[in-house]
Amino acid sequence: FPTARLDRLLANLGYGSRREVQGLIQGGRVILDGEAETDPAQHVYVKPDLATRMTVAGEPLDPPPGMALMIHKPLGVTCSHKETGALIYSLLPERWRRRDPVISTVGRLDKETSGLLLMTDDGALLHRIISPRHHVPKRYQVTLDRPLNGDEAALFAAGGLMLEGEDKPLLPAEMESAGPKQATLTLHEGRYHQVRRMFAAVGNHVVALHRDRIGLLDLPADLEAGSYRLLTAADIDAVF
Ligand code: URA
Repeated sequence: FPTARLDRLLANLGYGSRREVQGLIQGGRVILDGEAETDPAQHVYVKPDLATRMTVAGEPLDPPPGMALMIHKPLGVTCSHKETGALIYSLLPERWRRRDPVISTVGRLDKETSGLLLMTDDGALLHRIISPRHHVPKRYQVTLDRPLNGDEAALFAAGGLMLEGEDKPLLPAEMESAGPKQATLTLHEGRYHQVRRMFAAVGNHVVALHRDRIGLLDLPADLEAGSYRLLTAADIDAVF
């Protein structure tokens, strides 16, 4: 595990400027393994268990760098930093928005899509999940405007479908009917608005879209819209 100077670690976690966190440390507000650590230059190992061994101003340390979480994205919030309006980042604790490295979403869900979204500050992990080469499957529950015509599953499974405005055919995708106007669709890539555009290509229209699984990681039934949970190492293994 890497080490970091304590003051630098805390500043990068958003606890304040370097000066401000030095004040916290020298003031005895940072406790490591039950004892005040008053030297800002002290190096500490940056590993996940630091959050259970250190408190800052009486609260457990925020997740150290190298963290990942799942969030149940509600409808109406965007995954982009750039747009105005409700942002996914505003569902996280305020301090977490000042972290360096920043926490970003692993891919995106549309503003009008709900469900399982991963977020991480680990660039390598992010890349592993979104890289098309790894083919991590993502499962969507789709509600349609019109009844399925019965051909969709075979068409999607064959692969090769060309979406409007693109020059690379789609990979095969698995679809199961879940009712006359309900489908479960599993994708192995993530093109812009892919589910909506796939159903548009077969003359239908998506009226509601919810992602409930990434790899073998399910959105937990008890994780309410707008809530998040840190991922364990086992959760991350389930993604691949
Ligand atoms: N496909 C879409 O059309 N939208 C999403 O948010 C995800 C997949």
